[in-house]
Amino acid sequence: MKKNEFPTALVRPVIRTLKPYSSARDEFNAERGGMVFLDANENPYPTDVNRYPDPHQRKLRTLIAANSGLTEESLFLGNGSDDVLDLLFRVLCEPYKDRIITTPPTFGMFKVLADIHCVENLEVPLDEAFQPDVDAILARATANTKMLFLVSPNNPTGNCMDREPVLTLAREFPGLVVVDQAYAEFSDYPGFDQDVKDHPNLVVTRTFSKAYGLAGLRLGLAVAHPELIGYLKRVKLPYNVNELTQQRALESLQDLSGMQAQVREIRSERGRLELALAGISFISEVFPSEANFLMVRVDDADRRYRELLEMGIVVRNTSGKYRCPQTLRVTVGTPGENELLLNALIALSKNAMA
Ligand code: PMP
Repeated sequence: MKKNEFPTALVRPVIRTLKPYSSARDEFNAERGGMVFLDANENPYPTDVNRYPDPHQRKLRTLIAANSGLTEESLFLGNGSDDVLDLLFRVLCEPYKDRIITTPPTFGMFKVLADIHCVENLEVPLDEAFQPDVDAILARATANTKMLFLVSPNNPTGNCMDREPVLTLAREFPGLVVVDQAYAEFSDYPGFDQDVKDHPNLVVTRTFSKAYGLAGLRLGLAVAHPELIGYLKRVKLPYNVNELTQQRALESLQDLSGMQAQVREIRSERGRLELALAGISFISEVFPSEANFLMVRVDDADRRYRELLEMGIVVRNTSGKYRCPQTLRVTVGTPGENELLLNALIALSKNAMA
């Protein structure tokens, strides 16, 4: 393979030769003034959303490219990053034949998607420091192992993946290395977006659901080699990012200061919570986090989960995850919400001593 050439052989033959659906708005979009649109069987009376949205999300991709220093050709947008991940399976994985590797403890959606697409999921756990075990991953990989999924900062542990092992994998793993960076904005680590330019099989996914505060909009992003972006575009449904989502995301990207202020606040609250949680008698470990949540080890996760629920506080019981027995994952809330959580934990720890 030549430097920076995308490994096309990874793509399913049916997708390589697929003739995509040509939508009415492919050639002509409503931005062009003075045109009469009688091509898409829309209702002509304006409602703000009576026209189909731009299937290529041109304005949004232009703005994201300008903000990030990435090229528009290396960006793909989907209906949440779950949609982007699903499309990666559709483009790459032949049912009943291909495989993926995931690295527990990790985000549960990769396995669900593998099951949906009838793709075998090989689990190669992270090491004790929750870093990828490069040798074990490479030892398990075969020509049919189409993707490796890493999460940085990782969900549920909160730590970032070190650069060196990820870039070694990007060079040596035979399939795509997908780094899910849903929580990257909360971290000081640079992330791997800019490394995509030099590693044709590296894919980074991001989302507007976390730092941008737009989980209800459903907007996710892939940064990848332009050839792979082209295959994702062929396979996506024509209007996978709706008009209101495009409008709202544009507004949010035009002024990042609100989002940045919230991220600063959440990070400062994360620091405060980390210290306070460490002082709770039944919490034995607070895992350092680069994300907007903290994983803690407690004496009895089922019991503490239930007790918090009874007090009206919903956290996530992550005890079933590999190497995470007796853990809860707590999202960093507003200062008021965090105070309620801490007060509840203090009350429970007093009960325990009584
Ligand atoms: N990746 C990770 C690691 C996540 O934790 C989540 C949300 N829980 C997602 C992706 C899903 O993001 P989206 O809302 O963009 O589908």
